[in-house]
Amino acid sequence: MFEYACQSCGHHFELLVRERTRLACPSCDSEQLAKQLSVFAVSAPSARTAMAAAAPCGSCGHPDGPGACRVH
Ligand SMILES: [Zn+2]
Repeated sequence: MFEYACQSCGHHFELLVRERTRLACPSCDSEQLAKQLSVFAVSAPSARTAMAAAAPCGSCGHPDGPGACRVH
């Protein structure tokens, strides 16, 4: 699943690209498309950071053992 922006009409849409998928805007049928960075890929690292910060002591994965990180 990729996100594209039509450079002809500005329409944003997602497209499940297969081998024979013809890339064209569903709105104006233009093939002048700009592939967008996936929203999912951009937001994933910050989501992981938020989860690590919320982890209770002993779950942070510090090599010296639970509580050794002195952060929690
Ligand atoms: Zn278009």
